[in-house]
Amino acid sequence: MLEIVSFVLGPAATNAYLIGSPETGEAVVIDPAWDGDRILAAAAGRGWRVTNIWLTHAHFDHLGGAAAVADGSSPPPPVALHPDDYWLWRNEGGAGLFGLKIDPGPEPTIDLRHGMTMHMAGHSFEVRHAPGHSRGSVMFHVPDHGLLFCGDVIFQGSIGRTDLPGGDFKTLMDSIHNQVLTLPDETRLLNGHGPETTVGEERRHNPFLR
Ligand SMILES: [Zn+2]
Ligand SMILES: [Zn+2]
Repeated sequence: MLEIVSFVLGPAATNAYLIGSPETGEAVVIDPAWDGDRILAAAAGRGWRVTNIWLTHAHFDHLGGAAAVADGSSPPPPVALHPDDYWLWRNEGGAGLFGLKIDPGPEPTIDLRHGMTMHMAGHSFEVRHAPGHSRGSVMFHVPDHGLLFCGDVIFQGSIGRTDLPGGDFKTLMDSIHNQVLTLPDETRLLNGHGPETTVGEERRHNPFLR
C-alpha cells in the first residue's frame, strides 16, 4: 500500500508530498517545500521514517524545508535531483530573485535521469525528464497506482511558468505532450501548486493544450 499525505506550504503555497508504506514504515518526501518540521511530525505520527528526499526541480519553494527534514532524520536522507538543475540548486533555487534566503539543505547525491526507476518499499517510481519550467524538471510516475508527481510542469487548467531562468515555453509544451499526455487519462496528476487533476481532465479542458 502507498499512503500519500499532502501539504500546502511556504510563500508560494507549494504542494509537498509525504509518501509512506504503512507495512514497512519507510517514507519519501517529494518536494519538501517549506516547514520541514511539519512534514517530519506527520511522518512520526504515522510511525514512518523518511529515507529519501526527491526533488521535482530546484526552485526554492520546492526545497525550502529540505534542511529541516534532513536535520530531523537519522540518518539524514539522501537528496535526489536532475543534474540539469544543480546550477539552480547552488543558487538557492532562485530565492534571491524573490528577495528571500533559504538553506537548501544537504547537497544532492543522487542524479535523477530520464528512464531510471526509484524504489520505496517495493514500489517503483519512474523518472521522466520534463524540462521547460526548469532545465532539470522531472516527474515521478507510479504506473501501478496511476500517479504522476509532476512538479510545476502542468496544473489544473494551467502550465508551469517559463519566464524564470532556464525556462522555455516550447520545451515545456514538448514535455507535456511527450511525457504527460502519453499517459492514460485516469492518471492522477499530483502537481506543485493547486488542486490535483487527471491527464484526461487536462487533455479535455486545459486551455494551453488546444
Ligand atoms: Zn518551479
Ligand atoms: Zn513551484
